[in-house]
Amino acid sequence: MARHRSLSGHHPSPALLEALARSSRHGRAAHRLPQLPLREGHKSAVAGALAGAFFLAGGPLVAGSGVALGDSGVDTDGRLPALEVLPIHRQVDQQEEAAKLQKNEELQAKLAAAEQAAQEAVERRAAEQAAAEQAAAEQAAAEQAAAEQAAAEQAAAEQAAAEQAAAEQAAAEQAAAEQAAAEQAAAEQAAAEQAAADVQFVKPAEGRFTSGFGARWGTTHYGVDIANSIGTPIYSTTSGTVISSGPASGFGMWVRVQHDDGTITVYGHIDQSLVSVGQRVGVGEQIATMGNRGQSTGPHLHFEVHVNGQKIDPQPWLAERGITL
Ligand SMILES: [Zn+2]
Repeated sequence: MARHRSLSGHHPSPALLEALARSSRHGRAAHRLPQLPLREGHKSAVAGALAGAFFLAGGPLVAGSGVALGDSGVDTDGRLPALEVLPIHRQVDQQEEAAKLQKNEELQAKLAAAEQAAQEAVERRAAEQAAAEQAAAEQAAAEQAAAEQAAAEQAAAEQAAAEQAAAEQAAAEQAAAEQAAAEQAAAEQAAAEQAAADVQFVKPAEGRFTSGFGARWGTTHYGVDIANSIGTPIYSTTSGTVISSGPASGFGMWVRVQHDDGTITVYGHIDQSLVSVGQRVGVGEQIATMGNRGQSTGPHLHFEVHVNGQKIDPQPWLAERGITL
């Protein structure tokens, strides 16, 4: 091997050589290796060990021509010069630096991973928070909608109940009004029937009062005369039973009705009779038509009232019963 050849076969740079020279003056590595006396035969072994260290390190540092590690690498007192161990120290530093760098890179990676994890945790928490807020908002919206729905249904139910109550009220008022009207009509009907029932006497015929009861023309006139045209209706003044119907002496034709108290009314000079003997007649029922038969000076009704067999003046009798001739 050439004396000044480097282990890697390259010549070291002047800068490296200068750095190595400075390190040797400090002598830091002098106690790194035992300073043992070396025999000549050991020189190559030491150099070989050092070279092995270089190869193990695999680094670029080399022993230059100024730091001969060959057979002249031992100084005069047989001690291994400090310069010759310096590359080992530097190589260790390099390894330590590499390890530190490795650790630093690992630390950086762990830190980055931790930061990544932290960031992801923050983002996850933010997402969870957002989801929770979203869920809460949806829940609130659902509850709001449910409340509004319930309120609307409540209002509708109250509206329906109010309308139902109003309808029932109207129906009740209508029924009450109809009931009142029916009762009013019934009362009026009853009053009318009562009034009709109360009518006990009517005027026997409409017309002019032409002659009263009493002495007339040298004789006695036993009735009153009511003149009107032939055919004028003649009514029974009150209810009773027909006891005469047909021709009569002096009256031409007549009808007699006997009333329930025994009183008899006589209707003379009639044109036609509308009833038969024994027939029941009501108050105001038409029984004949006005005529001019018998001893008559013109169409008229001759009307008599007999009470207990006595012919009485019809005019006061009628007046007592509300009838005015
Ligand atoms: Zn008469």
